Amino acid sequence: MNVDKSIGMFLGLAIGDALGAPLEFKEASSPDSILKKYATGGAHNVSIGEWTDDTSMALAIANSLIEKETFDADDIMQKFCNWYEKGEYSTRGRCFDIGGTVGVALRSYSKTLNNSEYLQPYRGRTARDSSGNGALMRMAPVIMVATDRFHATQLATQQTLLTHGSNLCVEYSLMLAEELYFGYPIARFEKYKLPLDINENEVMSGGFVKETYEAAWWAFSTTNSFEDCIIRAVNRGHDADTTGAVAGMIAGRHYGHRNIPSYFKDNLMWYDELFQTALDLSYVEYKDARDA
Ligand SMILES: [Mg+2]
Repeated sequence: MNVDKSIGMFLGLAIGDALGAPLEFKEASSPDSILKKYATGGAHNVSIGEWTDDTSMALAIANSLIEKETFDADDIMQKFCNWYEKGEYSTRGRCFDIGGTVGVALRSYSKTLNNSEYLQPYRGRTARDSSGNGALMRMAPVIMVATDRFHATQLATQQTLLTHGSNLCVEYSLMLAEELYFGYPIARFEKYKLPLDINENEVMSGGFVKETYEAAWWAFSTTNSFEDCIIRAVNRGHDADTTGAVAGMIAGRHYGHRNIPSYFKDNLMWYDELFQTALDLSYVEYKDARDA
């Protein structure tokens, strides 16, 4: 993958997360109150350019892929637990904004950490009502190291099953993975997307994986720039940060890092670290675990 597009996908995730964070759990914005720049406040009282769990978990996966040069499920789960329990990969030095399904998976893994006989890293619950967007939101890193489309979908499935085991979660991860790999919407998945002439008020953006996928693609397909895409995505409110993160990945992958306005980069918390991580990740030479 082109390095500028690859870095754009990773930074796009963090930027969309940070733009949406002050709107999380709020109603959709009214036409005269559209948020276009980073703001403070919201349920987590964020600072300007501060991102949340979406970016923290993506950072954990990215660091593991850079260190291991392969998908090491246990290492990623341990890094997730380091975020959850020790606040690594977080702007606050503590975990905040964690989703319920992720929390269940990490507590279940952490409990057996000292008992290697039972250590099994794939902890996602399979119930349909656990079909949250918590795996979709952290997809970028595995796509950045994938060697072909099949590898992209394989890694997407693996990273999803760590915390989300429902069929729906896997299905939506598979679609997004292939689309991020290529950088455009795939015709075969059109029936899973919203009609482009839909009334904006009917675009849902809650924590359900289906809504996040639909809202993010709607935002991308009805705009012509990175910034317009993420602005449209986050202003639907509710799970605004995660809708923003997914829309940001899609738009960042499509338009590239160089087409992200400097305002969004200059004011993003940890920009230099995020950029360096994305750069390192773009040059990982992926090794199959069997060859390692
Ligand atoms: Mg979040």
